[in-house]
Amino acid sequence: MARYTASSCRVCRREGTKLFLKGQRCYTEKCGFDKRSYAPGQHGKGQRTKLSNYGLQLREKQKVKKTYGILERQFRKYFQTASRSKGITGSKLLELLERRLDNVIFRACFASSRPGARQIVMHGHVLVNDRKVDIPSYSVKTGDIVVIKPKEKTVKRIKDSVEKLKDRGYPTWIEVDKEGLKAKITRVPERSDMAADIKEQLIVELYSK
Ligand code: SF4
Repeated sequence: MARYTASSCRVCRREGTKLFLKGQRCYTEKCGFDKRSYAPGQHGKGQRTKLSNYGLQLREKQKVKKTYGILERQFRKYFQTASRSKGITGSKLLELLERRLDNVIFRACFASSRPGARQIVMHGHVLVNDRKVDIPSYSVKTGDIVVIKPKEKTVKRIKDSVEKLKDRGYPTWIEVDKEGLKAKITRVPERSDMAADIKEQLIVELYSK
């Protein structure tokens, strides 16, 4: 399965914001963006900061894609699905991204980053409604029960993660049972549940050209 292989911190520096791709490290003084908050590369420091309209749209799309760890082709498919759905395309796009199984594992604090959550899913540690699901892009729906398989080693590691991340909080559309490592999807995520700093309209404008 294709995925990003570039250094996570370089990605954050390129997008000019912290995307929290490295779990606990992102909250420490070791964060690459906190140390060098300019674009990577030889000319990164002196790079022009004023972007054209197209540049802004492109950067916003890249930021969201990289936040969720999705490559271009799949991201475009999400956009096409969103544009065919009822409602506001930008909000629908974000809803589809939030409903990915790897994102649910991350939001439920079973992993400290989305790449970590993706690995937990791909290694077959997750059950959805009592059936093993190892596809990170699996889209959850209301009423789904997501559980970490009761395998001693994994459970211990994930419980440690839950403990460390307990202050991060949970979104209101997921009900989390920390002891049972279980998450229930109580409703579909809405725009207000997601990061306010995402300008999804720019992505819609980019793909609508
Ligand atoms: Fe981004 Fe995390 Fe690296 Fe900081 S430590 S630059 S937030 S991936």
